[in-house]
Amino acid sequence: MIRFLKIFLVLFLAFSTFLFSKDGNFVDIILSNLQRIYDHTHRNYNAWNTLAELCDNFGPRLSGSENLEKSVDWIENKLRLEGYDSVWSEQVMVPKWVRVHEDCEIVYPRRKVLPIMAYGGSVSTPDTGILAEVIVVNSFEDLEKNKGSVKGKIVVYNPPYEGYGKTVQYRWLGAVKAAQYGAVAALCRPVSPMSLNNPHTGVMHYEDTVTKIPFASITEEDALLLERFQRRGIVPKLFLKILTRDEGFSPSRNVIAQIRGSVFPNEIIAFGGHIDSWDAGSGAHDDAGGCVASWYVLKTFKELGIRPKRTLRLVFWVNEENGLEGGKKYAELHKYENHKLLFEFDSGIFPPNRIGFTGPDTLWEKIVDFKNYFSKFYPNVEIQKGGGGVDISPMMKLGYPGGSLGTDDKGKYFWFHHSHKDTPDKIDPKDLNDCVSIIAMFLYLYSEIL
Ligand SMILES: [Zn+2]
Repeated sequence: MIRFLKIFLVLFLAFSTFLFSKDGNFVDIILSNLQRIYDHTHRNYNAWNTLAELCDNFGPRLSGSENLEKSVDWIENKLRLEGYDSVWSEQVMVPKWVRVHEDCEIVYPRRKVLPIMAYGGSVSTPDTGILAEVIVVNSFEDLEKNKGSVKGKIVVYNPPYEGYGKTVQYRWLGAVKAAQYGAVAALCRPVSPMSLNNPHTGVMHYEDTVTKIPFASITEEDALLLERFQRRGIVPKLFLKILTRDEGFSPSRNVIAQIRGSVFPNEIIAFGGHIDSWDAGSGAHDDAGGCVASWYVLKTFKELGIRPKRTLRLVFWVNEENGLEGGKKYAELHKYENHKLLFEFDSGIFPPNRIGFTGPDTLWEKIVDFKNYFSKFYPNVEIQKGGGGVDISPMMKLGYPGGSLGTDDKGKYFWFHHSHKDTPDKIDPKDLNDCVSIIAMFLYLYSEIL
């Protein structure tokens, strides 16, 4: 037995020597800096305090809103004071859609006022509202089966939640499908696994060839109530008034700060999140958290005096939620710069559990090795193929590698997503620190080992 243990020990040592054989000194520096990053990012809860300040002071940050512009100004000013090598912003024209008035009430078989949020981009009802009968459907197949009874009615979609990727089709296509059969408006249950009587907004879609009808989220509770009425043979009647304004485009900015690389300053690692949000709650998880985590990554390098070999560029993109104009503008202006990686964090602030990567196999072989370096701190974080994000997608389409951080939300992210529940109190300060720490470690390794 002892002999086996000895053989095992010899093999283990040989393997570790192989693993870290690049250069003892190089590896020592890397490991010691990872430890410094970990310690520094867990010293206090300043990242959470900054997140709360951003969310509390400016509130939700819909594209085209004064809130967004004020938060962009605040961030840019703070970045300047923090003294990075360069800080600047780049103008982006973003769509300006405004929610003006919303009112929804069951008038038959009994009166009940319903919480409601129009989906982003929804057209208005007439100024006097709509009074119409309701038809509840559970799926598009169900709608198809009942298409003969849709004309002149308000279609209420009540699909069970089967994961965001699948169920979100009702929010995206619901207005078009209902309008095709002559509905006068459509409502939908939130794309969320859990409800506490809150509607959840989000982006929706119209087609030029189909009549544009108003479309909004009601709550899961009310969608279920309307369905129960229908099952009992009652045809509920609703009053619906939604007033919105499409104000075209207005100027906003992507904000950028960077630390120049010490060896390869022209090789760029761009990372960040989107500063715009829906006009609900204060966009804490989506995506103030991703922005602040990324901000504290750059701040960590600055405060520790670590200057990585490659340039670290922090980007706060605008207009992820309803247009992607920030991501498109970034690609337009920076596509010829030598980006080694674009990294986005937009998956909610929970314990980190996954780094996704999309890029050439030659890089992938180096990246899977990173786990050997950070597993001491984050044994549960896996490195997996498949990374990216909406804001970095225009650059990834051009062939640049993309990465992202995933978190173990236990299904909770979509409890809050795009609703009034998305506020800083839903974020654990320790989780935020861990997200800062692992992103900093990954980007540092990427910069040094690439
Ligand atoms: Zn987001």
